[in-house]
This record gives sequence, structure tokens and C-alpha cells, in this order.
Amino acid sequence: MEKIKNYIGGELIAPLANQYIDNYNPATGEVYSLVPDSDEKDVTHAVAAAEKAFPAWSAMPAEKRSNLLLRIAELIEQNHEQLALTESIDNGKPVSLARTVDIPRAASNFHFFATAILHFASEAHSMAEAALNYTLHQPLGLAGCISPWNLPLYLFTWKIAPALAAGNCVIGKPSEITPMTAYRLAELCREAGLPPGVLNIVHGYGHKVGAAISAHPKISAISFTGSTRTGAEIAKTAAPRFKKLSLEMGGKNPNIIFADCNYDDMLQTTLRSSFSNQGEICLCGSRIFIEQPLYKKFRADFVTRTKDLKTGDPLHESSNLGAVVSKTHYEKILYYIELARQEGGTILCGGKPVKVEGRCANGWFIEPTVIEGLPYDCRTNQEEIFGPVVTLIPFATEEEVLHYANSTAYGLAAIIWTENLTRAHRLANRLQAGIVWINCWMRRDLRTPFGGMKDSGLGREGGWEALRFFTEPKNVCVQLQK
Ligand code: NAD
Repeated sequence: MEKIKNYIGGELIAPLANQYIDNYNPATGEVYSLVPDSDEKDVTHAVAAAEKAFPAWSAMPAEKRSNLLLRIAELIEQNHEQLALTESIDNGKPVSLARTVDIPRAASNFHFFATAILHFASEAHSMAEAALNYTLHQPLGLAGCISPWNLPLYLFTWKIAPALAAGNCVIGKPSEITPMTAYRLAELCREAGLPPGVLNIVHGYGHKVGAAISAHPKISAISFTGSTRTGAEIAKTAAPRFKKLSLEMGGKNPNIIFADCNYDDMLQTTLRSSFSNQGEICLCGSRIFIEQPLYKKFRADFVTRTKDLKTGDPLHESSNLGAVVSKTHYEKILYYIELARQEGGTILCGGKPVKVEGRCANGWFIEPTVIEGLPYDCRTNQEEIFGPVVTLIPFATEEEVLHYANSTAYGLAAIIWTENLTRAHRLANRLQAGIVWINCWMRRDLRTPFGGMKDSGLGREGGWEALRFFTEPKNVCVQLQK
């Protein structure tokens, strides 16, 4: 059985304590590889390697750093098919999705920040009293990047690419549930000639490796994506050490559909925004609000289209949904479906595990599920489920739907469907969300600020936001005349 290795100081090595965690293939329920169960000592080792690499890496001209990161992007592209297959096996997602979303985006993340750093400039502020200020953006030193399991390579690279481009050395920790593509990335970094210690990847549990990264005094910033609960844990550990923090956390996003929308576009996209990646995308619209005149038609069409979706072997091209990521997560989703029933919801379709024949007979598959009849403020409509489960809620007025939409603790993303642009902009202005999509979903321009408000996040990723996060601004004021 393949044993994944840590990537420290340019070497692929076993964890110091030589302990491992089982890594499951969610589509078969079988253990298929072993993940290092690293601890504080491995983090200390990685920190030492990163400290050693930092002076040369941070002093390297941006063009040279950029070329190395572009080489990594190129290698991801060259290994596209293999990486897509690896991601699908490790996570349970359809290979077609990994091929079209996860892996291309991982390459884009490197490409984008490798080139962005070439345009990242200092500001200057000239003063009337013959003085000039200029602001240097200097690398922080060591950055900790902690990522989740739902878009494994996509989100891991979204953090490490800007951190490295800005001249930092990185201690990265992918999710212990989906470590495999980060391991492959380490191999590609070696092939690309990334200097030893610039990027270090320590695999293992959050409470051991993640907590050690958050607490380490030599790591000056933590970029985290994951659950709100873990984000709070990290903030508690990092705050007394005054680390910079970027926290991208959970969501319970509203999808608001007005009767005047472009119906076919809306229906097609709403299927995706509900069930892509088995609903395991923080940006999925899990609460669907429909204007009353459209409610019956939408319900009928949406349920029919949902029933047509095929849940099955992620390696089959025809599967729209694959397996959910783990047994624990499978049980959590089924718990919420049962809770929805207890809260008085009606399951319009789905609601049960899927029995897949053949090699996937023991995998963790759940039918795409549509529920109606629940009040906006019940637990099902307030808590993040993070699975193929959506609720339908009718509304009469803009004020009413705004109240429903803003009623959760979260504030990550929102979707609005209407042809009335004045209304769309008015609503976008008042929605409590870091990202609002009007008549589309998941359209991403990597230059835009990405993140959430309220319990969904702290800080923003993307574009200059990320490069500013991973640098320390230093203002220099020069007196020009006495
Ligand atoms: P999680 O919080 O359980 O784990 C995320 C990462 O944190 C993993 O690498 C984990 O090992 C690590 N971790 C766990 N405990 C830790 C600790 N005490 N200290 C430091 N690190 C620790 O989240 P998950 O289950 O992997 O991911 C699902 C969650 O991620 C959902 O809530 C989803 O909404 C959120 N998410 C948010 C975004 C976003 O951009 N806002 C994107 C994707 C996923």
C-alpha cells in the first residue's frame, strides 16, 4: 500500500514517529493508502528547513521566483489527467469535475500569482512639505497554509501560490482526508527545481499538525480554509502570538430566484449550484428562495431534473455526483436529512443513500435531495450541511427574502436570479455576503476579493488582497529638504 510522505527541506520523507493514518477511497469504502500521522516534531523540522531557505528565496528577483512557479503550473498541466484521476479517487468527486474544475484551477493559481507578482508595485505618497513616502511590501517570512478536503489541490494551491510568489517560505498542511494530490504536487515541485525548504508539506491531523503550525512562534501568518469551528480554534491559538490571519470558513448560501428570471439559465445553473461536487462546495446555494408565482413550476421542474442526475462511480463519465468524502461526513449528511424530517420538512426527492453496484458497493453515496416546507429559521435552514441537500422556500417580497437570506450566522456567497437589474443591484448591496453572483454562479476572476463576512470569514483572498496578506507593508518617509 502506498505510503504518502512529507515534503521537508526538498526531500520526501517519512514522519519522524513513523505513524500513519488510513486513507480511504470514498467510492469503495476501502483503505488505499497511508497518510503520515505527523506531529509537532515534524512541524519543527519543516520550520527549520523553511528558515534556512528564506533568505535566498526572499532575495531572489521576482522574475526568477515567477519562472519557477510557472514551471510548476506547466507540470500540473502536463500531469492533468493523472492528477484528475488521483483527486477523484481520493475525494470521491466525479473525475469529469476534477478534470474540468479542480486541476485546471490548481494550474491557474500558480500561473496567476506567478505573473501577478511581476506587477505588484509599491505606492508612493508625496507630501507638500518636501517629503516623500514609499511603501515596501516585504515577505513575512514563514507562512502556514491549512486547507480542507472539498477542493483539495485547488484550495491548497490557492494559498501557497501567492505566499511563495510574495517571497515567503511555506509550511503547508492539506486535509488528512484528501492528502494525495498535495503529495503529487511535492513531487512536481522537486521536478520543477523549487529550492529545498521553500515549500514544505506536513501531512496529518488538524489537532496535531494544524495546531502546531498555528502555535509555532516562527510562523507569522496563517491562511486557513475549512470549517468555522476550526477557524475559531486557530484564531484562539494564533491571536496571543499576533499572527496575521486569513480565515475562509463555512457558508449557508441563499439562491434567490425571482419570477422574471431567465428561466432555463437559472434552472440549469441552479442544478449545478445545488449539487456540484455532491454539494460539497462552500459556495453552493443550499437555501433556494423562489418568488411565489414561480414556486410550483420551479418545484416541479427542479425535482424532475434532480431525479435525472446520476449518482454513481466517480470514474464513470456519466456520473453527475460521486461519493461524499468520508463515512463521518456521510453520516452527518444523513443526520441532517433526518433532522429536516423531524422539523416538519417534506422530502420531494432523494433523502436516502444510493446503493451502487459493483466495485462501489461499499462507497458513501447519497441521493441529491430536495426538501420543502421548512421555516427559514429552523436548524436545517441555519446550519451548514455541506452535502447534496437543498431546501425550497417561497417568498412574496424583496424585504422578506432579504430577511431570510441574511438570517444565518454565515455570510459567504449569494446568488440572485432576475432580469430586473435595478432590483439585482439593490439586493446585492444589502445582502450580507462577501460574494454575490447575479444570473450566474461560480464565475471566478482570480483578481477579485474572495471571502466571507460574519462567521464565514476574516480577510480576503485573491489578487492584490492575497499578495498584501502575505507581505508586510513598510512605509519609508524621506525628508527631501530642510
Ligand atoms: P475542517 O475545519 O475540519 O478542516 C480544515 C483543515 O483544518 C484540515 O486540514 C484540518 O486537518 C485542519 N484542522 C482541523 N483542526 C485543526 C486545528 N485545531 N488547528 C489547525 N488546523 C486544524 O474543515 P473540512 O471539513 O476539511 O472542510 C469543510 C469546511 O470547509 C466547510 O465548513 C466548508 O464550508 C469550508 N470551506 C470553506 C471555503 C471558503 O472559501 N470559505 C472553501 C472550502 C471549504
